[in-house]
Amino acid sequence: MIVASPKSVTELKNLIARHGKVLFVGCGTCVTVCLAGGEREVSIASYATRMARKIEGKPLELTQVTIERQCENEFIKDLADEVAKAEAIVSFGCGAGVQAIAERFPGKPVYAGLNTQFLGILEKQAVWTEKCLGCGDCMLAQYGGVCPVTRCAKRLLNGPCGGSTEEHCEVDADRPCAWQLIYARLRSIDQLDRLDSIVPPKDWRPAWHSGARKIVRKEHQV
Ligand code: SF4
Ligand code: SF4
Repeated sequence: MIVASPKSVTELKNLIARHGKVLFVGCGTCVTVCLAGGEREVSIASYATRMARKIEGKPLELTQVTIERQCENEFIKDLADEVAKAEAIVSFGCGAGVQAIAERFPGKPVYAGLNTQFLGILEKQAVWTEKCLGCGDCMLAQYGGVCPVTRCAKRLLNGPCGGSTEEHCEVDADRPCAWQLIYARLRSIDQLDRLDSIVPPKDWRPAWHSGARKIVRKEHQV
């Protein structure tokens, strides 16, 4: 999932400082699962922002709505009536959701209510960890399903650095060394031979080197 974290109430208040009628829009998918921008979080943010504005003595008319996905026009279009009544929108979707809403409603200011962080998983209660950078040429098979591009602080593709220990990465003592995980995983699936060959420098062309990427799958077009 895409993992995001909330902006502070002060940041939200500052984002909408020039507006009197604002629409807060939550998203029912990734950011709901990571407890950042779903219906519950948007309710809390709305209440806190209203209070902050009240303390400043500046009136604020704030409406809130949560749609199933902010990254699909199919769902965004349902916002049209509420958007028409608002001076500005704060999107609690990921960065893609914010931009999708802005494209759909070109005449309205649209602000990001969250900080989009990474592609990751829920590791344990209230702890999310990054697992993928979306490099466009997945190499997980080579590494037993542990991504060194994302999880090794130095993005090493051919074994650990000199600071690696069984306990942690030398760059961050709170994190395991990705290469220790790769080794353990390949050993447990009996594929340590994958480490016998040198992996050539990664081809970054499918990644981000030339700006925003696009995927067209003609077989799904009608
Ligand atoms: S190799 Fe690339 S696509 Fe695969 S998990 Fe790592 S960053 Fe993501
Ligand atoms: S200790 Fe491991 S994860 Fe950390 S930078 Fe070195 S090889 Fe990468």
